[in-house]
Amino acid sequence: MFSIHGTGIGGGIVIGRARVLESLQRDLPRYRLRDGQLEAELARLETAIEVVKTELFALGEDLPVDCPDEARALLDVHAMLLEDPALVQAARETMREHRWNAEWAFSAQAGHLAAQFADLEDAYLRERGRDVQQVAERVIRVLLGSTDVSMAAAEPAIFVAEDIAPADMLSLRSALGFGIDLGGATSHTAILARSMNVPAVVGLGRASDLVVDDDWLILDGEAGLVIVAPDDIVLEQYRRRRAEGERAREDLKRLVHVPTVTRDGVAVQLQANIERPEEAAAALAAGADGIGLFRSEFLFLNRRDLPGEDEQFEAYRAAVVAMDGRPVTIRTLDVGADKALPALSGTAPQNPALGQRAIRYCLAEPEVFLVQLRAILRASACGSARLLIPMLAHSHEIDQTLRLVDLAKGQLRGRGQAFDERLPVGGMVEVPAAALSAGLFVRKLDFLSIGTNDLIQYTLAIDRADHDVASLYEPFHPAVLRLIGMTIRAARRAGTPVAVCGEMAGDWAATRLLLGMGLTQFSMHPASLLRVKQEILDADVSRLSPRVARLLYSDDPVRVRALLARLVDEG
Ligand code: PEP
Ligand code: MG
Repeated sequence: MFSIHGTGIGGGIVIGRARVLESLQRDLPRYRLRDGQLEAELARLETAIEVVKTELFALGEDLPVDCPDEARALLDVHAMLLEDPALVQAARETMREHRWNAEWAFSAQAGHLAAQFADLEDAYLRERGRDVQQVAERVIRVLLGSTDVSMAAAEPAIFVAEDIAPADMLSLRSALGFGIDLGGATSHTAILARSMNVPAVVGLGRASDLVVDDDWLILDGEAGLVIVAPDDIVLEQYRRRRAEGERAREDLKRLVHVPTVTRDGVAVQLQANIERPEEAAAALAAGADGIGLFRSEFLFLNRRDLPGEDEQFEAYRAAVVAMDGRPVTIRTLDVGADKALPALSGTAPQNPALGQRAIRYCLAEPEVFLVQLRAILRASACGSARLLIPMLAHSHEIDQTLRLVDLAKGQLRGRGQAFDERLPVGGMVEVPAAALSAGLFVRKLDFLSIGTNDLIQYTLAIDRADHDVASLYEPFHPAVLRLIGMTIRAARRAGTPVAVCGEMAGDWAATRLLLGMGLTQFSMHPASLLRVKQEILDADVSRLSPRVARLLYSDDPVRVRALLARLVDEG
């Protein structure tokens, strides 16, 4: 028995068998073949296709007799695609003509074919585009010699890996838990694990080297601990603690319909963060007042093409309709840094976190941005939507964005398509420049949302996904707290709604601090909502405000920590 420590992402305790995933290559190799290499490369592609055909056949043979017909049909469709000249023959021709390596040629051809499906009217045929992508991914994994994540996905196991790209995580929805070597508490992989509501620990260092397949593991998502091959006494202790945790979570459910009001009568809105429209159901089940952050970029991951306007509209509409009149805040494409998109991969930026991320990318690619803006605007006709712009730093970025929103509206009017003329447009405060310019931002925008994950990263110059500096990623650093406090004050002075939607909003240890700063809108992953609500119901803002003002006055981290601990303990 031995234990490995990392950063807990929450989700409670899980006990299960390990499944170690090979680390996956994020960027596809892309190179031109030299003279004389073509035939061998064509043969390599042929072999990979044959391997995938055999895998698919074996999967079909292993299906239980009572499995749904759809599962069998899907395997047949995938096998048939591997015979389709539009995919296979065309990829070979690309290799002959342009001398691209097999991975690149096959992936490019699959992307091209999938894009043609995506434009079709018929929903069933549109879905076939996904099949093309999935089967292509299988072939590419074989070419790269890497483990098939989607095959592993069927196993109810605790997945251990050096890293799991957010896109790959989406195909591991049957996971019991995640233990990941890299990453910090607010990396996107961690955020996704949290939204899947399974126990997870990141920043485990060398767990993927130390753990082997089928090891028994205890993974404690609260304590940030993985115990490998536990003995019977430890197992028994953790079984008891797991049962207690489940009871506490059950107990919180009695708060779902209780209005969120502090002891001294301050009403608070609790909203949910989601990555996909289906998660609106979990938000409603937790009693969320709306969606404070829909990270739309997750529609763009795990694919090699870009989702079209209709596909995006359907996703946004689904969330808006599901929330039944409650506001749904759709954030525009926040790509870059640890959310690189295969469809956009060009030359790797020198420093992705400081490069062409989020709104910077969207303004540089107005055609891509306009597709999304039109889709969001169209969804606004189906309920209550809001549009949120990430990573703003400059006032001219707001002006340009608002001009593009107007342009998108004009295009929809031209087409006779409905939208909400008064769709609120808000901005995220994620870089210190935005917090320091909050007074200007509130004059141009309808609402603000503070993204503490990035605000901490950029204030402290700590890469939020780099486990080597994770210990320096300090949400309660006095400088960070001042920037949050000053943004809330500027918004309140102007009468502009302001929320916090970073992970700090879902950390119950920060709830009283944020209430004391004057915050009345929190947005977090649904799993944290009831625990935060419990804190709010017990809090008294009139008592908290002067104490938080004193705390913000201090630039001594030790004193700030002590004052914070007293806020949490004494209420
Ligand atoms: C944030 O930065 O706090 C935020 C909510 O955005 P994301 O985590 O998606 O970068
Ligand atoms: Mg952010």
